Amino acid sequence: MTEDCIFCKIINGDFGTEFVYESENVVAFNDINPKAPVHVLVVPKIHVASLNELEDKELMGELLCAVKQVAKITGLKAYKTLINTGKEAGQEVFHLHLHVMGNK
Ligand code: AMP
Ligand code: ZN
Repeated sequence: MTEDCIFCKIINGDFGTEFVYESENVVAFNDINPKAPVHVLVVPKIHVASLNELEDKELMGELLCAVKQVAKITGLKAYKTLINTGKEAGQEVFHLHLHVMGNK
């Protein structure tokens, strides 16, 4: 855990955030400022600043599997999956996350 990382704190349970989905290495929770009727963030439990810092291919696969699980759990048949990498691309939180956005 990185102490000043908001997502590490969420993963650690500091805010009592409800997880839409959880596996050994991944959690998913609702975006605080949703840009779609369903807007969930899929996040690795370990602190990885962005996709550029992620080397673990197994975890890459797990993250995409989690996206599919989140879509299923939230009843999304169609959805967008977005990863912002780097400030210039719109990344605001520097703990890797995959946006899952769609209409029910
Ligand atoms: P990005 O711009 O790709 O880094 O996305 C960061 C996302 O995290 C934004 O959509 C924010 O609304 C969301 N966010 C920031 N703080 C929180 C929080 N405490 N809980 C849930 N989502 C958050
Ligand atoms: Zn973190």
